[in-house]
Amino acid sequence: MEKMKCLIIGSGPAAYTAAIYAARANLSPVVIEGLEPGGQLTTTTDVENFPGYPEGITGPEMMEDLKKQAQRFGTDVRFGLITEVDFSKKPFGLKGDPGIEIEADSVIIATGASAKYLGLESEEKFKGRGVSACATCDGFFYKGKDVAVVGGGDSAVEEATYLAGLAKKVYMIVRKDHLRASKVMQARVDQTENLEILYQHTTKEVLGDDMGVTGVLLHNSATGEDVEIKVDGFFLGIGHTPNSGPFKEYIDTDETGYINTEGNSTRTNVPGVFACGDVMDSIYRQAITAAGSGCKAALDAEKYLAEKDIVETDIINN
Ligand code: NDP
Repeated sequence: MEKMKCLIIGSGPAAYTAAIYAARANLSPVVIEGLEPGGQLTTTTDVENFPGYPEGITGPEMMEDLKKQAQRFGTDVRFGLITEVDFSKKPFGLKGDPGIEIEADSVIIATGASAKYLGLESEEKFKGRGVSACATCDGFFYKGKDVAVVGGGDSAVEEATYLAGLAKKVYMIVRKDHLRASKVMQARVDQTENLEILYQHTTKEVLGDDMGVTGVLLHNSATGEDVEIKVDGFFLGIGHTPNSGPFKEYIDTDETGYINTEGNSTRTNVPGVFACGDVMDSIYRQAITAAGSGCKAALDAEKYLAEKDIVETDIINN
C-alpha cells in the first residue's frame, strides 16, 4: 500500500491548480488523472476568457501548460481512475485502475462534471466542429450566425440568451410544450427578440459536411412531421452530471449529486477530504472559477495537515 500526504483526483483546472499550490507547500501531491485527462476543456477549441492569455489558447494546450506547471513543482501526475474509496478510516483508503491502492492523509476531489449529450452518432461526429456543450466557451465563434440550443431548463435558457447576444438567431429545441426553467429565466427568453422556441421538438440528427454543422433534423411531436432547420452551431443545454459517484457513500451531496462544501471553504463533511471545481459547483462552472476553488482546496488541505501534525505531535509528546 502506497502512502501519501495529499492525493488529488481529477485533471482539470481545479485539480492542477490544487496541485500547483499543494506542491509548492511541500505536500508532495499525487494527481490521478481520471478517464478524461485534462477534463472538459480538452473538448473545446479556443479558450479566450481565461485571464492571462491575450491571444487566447486552445483548451488542450492550456491543460498541458497547467499540468507542466504542476509537475515543475514536483507533482506526480499519474494515469488512472479511482473507483473505490474508504473515507471511514484514517489515513483514507483509495483503490482504482490500474492496480491503484493508496493511503492518503488528505484527499482533494476535483473530478468535475460531464455535460450530458443526446447520444446521437451525428452529434458525436461533429463534437468540436459545431456541436458544443458550452456556450460561454464557444459562443463567440457563432457571431452573426444561426445556432440551436437543446433543452428547456435554466442551463439551456442561460446558454440561449447568452448566444442570442452574439448570434443572428437562436432556436431553442424543447421536447415538452413548456419550459422547465424558472420564471425569472423564462422572462429573459420573452425579452430576447432573436430567440425562437420550438416546443415539442426533438432532435433526430445533426446535419453537416466537411466544414462542420449545417443544420438539424427535428421531429415535431405535435404534428408528427420532421422539419429541418439551418444552423451553424448546435449547443447542448440538457444539464451536467457531477462526477461524484465513487464518493457518495461518505460525502454529502445535493439531490443532483454536487458535493456540498462547508460555507465558503472546500471542506466536505469528512475532515481531510476537500472538493473543488465543477464537482461542487453547479452555478459558475468556468475554468477560472474551478482554478480558484482548486487553490482554496490546496490551502484548506495544507491547513488541515498542519493542524493534524500539531495534534499528533502533542499526542506523542504527552
Ligand atoms: P435541468 O435538469 O433543470 O433541465 C434539463 C432540461 O433539458 C430540461 O428542459 C429537460 O427536458 C431537457 N432534457 C433533458 N434530457 C433531454 C433529452 N435527452 N432531450 C431533450 N431534452 C432533454 O438541468 P439544468 O442544467 O438546466 O439545471 C440544473 C440545475 O442548475 C437546476 O436546479 C437549475 O435551476 C440550476 N441552474 C441555475 C442557473 C441559474 O440560476 N442561473 C443556471 C443553470 C442551472 P424536460 O423538461 O422535458 O425534462
